[in-house]
Amino acid sequence: MAFEGLANRLQNVFGKLKGKGKVSEEDVGEAMREVRLALLEADVNFKVVKEFIAKVKEQAVGQDVLKSFTPGMVVIDIVNKELTNLMGGTQSKLAKSNRPPTVIMMVGLQGAGKTTTTGKLAKLLQKQNHRPLLVAGDIYRPAAIKQLEVLGEQIKVPVFSMGDKTSPVEIARSGMQHAKDNGHDYVIIDTAGRLHIDESLMDELKQIREVVKPDEVLLVVDAMTGQDAVNVAESFHQQMELTGVVLTKLDGDTRGGAALSVKAVTGCPIKFAAMGEKIDALEPFHPDRMASRILGMGDVLTLIEKAQAGIDQDQALEMQRKMRTAEFTFEDFLQQMEQVKQLGPLDQLMDMLPGMNKMKGMENMKVDDKQLGHIEAIIKSMTKDEKIKPEMINASRRKRIANGSGRTVQEVNKLIKQFEEMRKMMKQFSGMMGPKGPKGGMK
Ligand code: GDP
Repeated sequence: MAFEGLANRLQNVFGKLKGKGKVSEEDVGEAMREVRLALLEADVNFKVVKEFIAKVKEQAVGQDVLKSFTPGMVVIDIVNKELTNLMGGTQSKLAKSNRPPTVIMMVGLQGAGKTTTTGKLAKLLQKQNHRPLLVAGDIYRPAAIKQLEVLGEQIKVPVFSMGDKTSPVEIARSGMQHAKDNGHDYVIIDTAGRLHIDESLMDELKQIREVVKPDEVLLVVDAMTGQDAVNVAESFHQQMELTGVVLTKLDGDTRGGAALSVKAVTGCPIKFAAMGEKIDALEPFHPDRMASRILGMGDVLTLIEKAQAGIDQDQALEMQRKMRTAEFTFEDFLQQMEQVKQLGPLDQLMDMLPGMNKMKGMENMKVDDKQLGHIEAIIKSMTKDEKIKPEMINASRRKRIANGSGRTVQEVNKLIKQFEEMRKMMKQFSGMMGPKGPKGGMK
């Protein structure tokens, strides 16, 4: 994931500090030198790094910190707070107009992920029970209109388009009218990108802005391009008065520099982060949660939100009942795996658990989506009866399952053994809990 190098380095620095009962001014100085290097290597703007270190140092060398019982922790806390501030402090929410529709204009260079993000944003709004309309205003890039139409179809959000012969300004104007006539409460306008910023692009964007008077002008930038992304943001902001930035491709191995510098350099907040090519891979950007992920403290809040949005409550209750009565079968196991998969790639989910990114490097902790796929293949090669009564799976059945799934008999054995152990544990657990919950009546 993004920030991996930075996260590892910072966690090493702080690991050393945490272990110390006493922390001297020299220790803090040494740690700050390492933090400075780590940030520079992550491609954070050098001025931003300088100010950041000065702020942390100022607070960290205070006598109170050094005398505290857990000085290492206090220093980490200061760094956490300052990292959060660096990325904007609090979450910067999407505007909502008092006189709908709320108009969002998407701008950015070609290839940054603008059109994809436009679709993702519509999906996010739709999940919050809004009725967005997409407007296809990129008439220059071949197939951009088609791309938006396909995205719209996929998520069942209407796309307003007038082909590529009408001017984008006219398209935007008509799109607005269409949204008003059809009761849409959000309009998201996809605009043309270019390979580089040029005057004609800016002129056209300004004309569209004049006509639609957007509540949001969101710049989409590719986090993989590091400081270039920050420079692009700065130029766009000077000309277009952006209201926010969307960082894309944070799922790649970007070093994180753009995320950490863009707000400090441009003054423009990051509103969303895109972490994958799939249509639901867009998250509102929370500076505090991102800082926490970078420092290996996890992001349990986002994980809970994802789980709440992705899991059917009735199904979850039924699953809980089955676990308590130890009726859990391979069918249920498969269903549960499907639900977990909907939350996103395992790798990203792991990063949200405190301390997990350290463990990820360890050999026996390597769980990945590929492995899940193997397990899935094995279970799907079982017959219905075998899934319900795994105890009937004898040696010849195991061989058949292995052949059917393209896995080895050893893997099949291992899975069945683990499953039986899990069921045994559930039985013991449900004995302790009783059908209604833990003994002693926890409510
Ligand atoms: P546009 O020219 O700015 O409209 O760019 P597109 O929306 O066509 O995206 C360019 C490429 O980047 C496409 O292949 C997208 O699938 C990909 N892309 C967009 N956002 C992300 C992201 O968050 N993560 C990854 N890995 N790829 C992305």
